[in-house]
Amino acid sequence: MGTRINGRELAETMQVEIKKEVEELAEKNIQPGLAVLLVGEDPASQVYVRNKETTAKKLGIYSQILRYEETITEKQLLEEIKRLNGDPKIHGILVQLPLPKQIDEEKVILTIDPKKDVDGFHPVNMGKLLTGDATMIPCTPYGIMKMLEAYSIDVDGKQAVVVGRSNIVGKPVACLLLEKNATVTVTHSHTQDLKAITSQADILVVAIGKGHFITKDYVKDGAVVIDVGMNRNAQGKLIGDVKFDEVEPKTSYITPVPKGVGPMTITMLMQQTVKACKIQELGL
Ligand code: NDP
Repeated sequence: MGTRINGRELAETMQVEIKKEVEELAEKNIQPGLAVLLVGEDPASQVYVRNKETTAKKLGIYSQILRYEETITEKQLLEEIKRLNGDPKIHGILVQLPLPKQIDEEKVILTIDPKKDVDGFHPVNMGKLLTGDATMIPCTPYGIMKMLEAYSIDVDGKQAVVVGRSNIVGKPVACLLLEKNATVTVTHSHTQDLKAITSQADILVVAIGKGHFITKDYVKDGAVVIDVGMNRNAQGKLIGDVKFDEVEPKTSYITPVPKGVGPMTITMLMQQTVKACKIQELGL
C-alpha cells in the first residue's frame, strides 16, 4: 500500500516558512504584493481567485484582486497589465486563465514583465526553465517537485513518465524532472500504446483532465504516482485523473485528490511572489 503524499499538510508547513519570510521583509518595510486579474464570471476561476486572496492575506502578502467584465477588450486588459508592471507595490502579476475569446492569451502573457510573472508562463521564464536557470517556475510543477523532495523521493536516474504536455503542467514538470536527472518520457493524446509506456514508470505524473482515466493496468508495482487532475464526477465530487482506490495498493507513494497537488500550487504561488519581491526590492 502506497504512502499518501499529504499535499495539504506540506503546504501548511511551507506556508509557516513563507509567513516568516514575509515578517522578515516587514522589518525592512517591504511587503510582497500580488495582483490577480480575473476576467468574467467563470465559477471555477472565482473559487481559485478567492483562495489566492485568502492565502495571501493569511501570509501577510498584499493582494489586489482586479475583476473585469467578460466584455473587456484585449487593449484594455493589456493596458491594465502595463500599469501593474509599473506599480512598485506589486511584485507578482497573475492573470487567471481561461480568458474570453476576444483576448489573445499569448499577448497577455507576453505583456507581463517577466520579473513579475509569478506563474512562470512568459517565454523568457519558460526559456530559462529549459536551460535549467529558472527563477519563476510554473506553480503546479514546482509544487510537485517540492512534494517529491519533502518525501525524499529520489528522482535521479529514475524513469519518469508525464502524461499530458500542456505549457502549464506537462512540459514544465518534464523539464524539472530532467533537471533532477530523471529519464523523462512525455506522452499525450497521440501517444500509441500509452499503457506500455506508463507501466515502465518509476515516477508517473498524470495531468490530462480526464477523471479516473489511469487505472491499475497503467501503473508499475511500486511506482510513485502524482495526480494533477481536477475533475468533477457526475455527482459533482472532485476527482483526479487516477482511479485512486485501485491504483493506491500498487504504488510506493501517491497523491490523493483533493489534498494532493492542489494546495501545493497555491503555496508555490505565494512563495514565488515573495521571491519576486526579494529580487525586485533587494536584488537577490
Ligand atoms: P490541458 O487540457 O491543457 O492538457 C491536457 C493534456 O492531456 C494534453 O497534452 C492532452 O494531449 C493530454 N491528453 C488528453 N487526453 C489524453 C489521453 N487520452 N491520453 C494521453 N494524453 C491525453 O490540461 P492541463 O495540463 O491544464 O490540466 C490537466 C489537469 O490538471 C486538469 O484536470 C486540470 O484541472 C488539472 N490542473 C490542476 C492543477 C492543480 O493545481 N491541482 C493546476 C493545473 C491543472 P494533447 O496535447 O495531444 O491534446
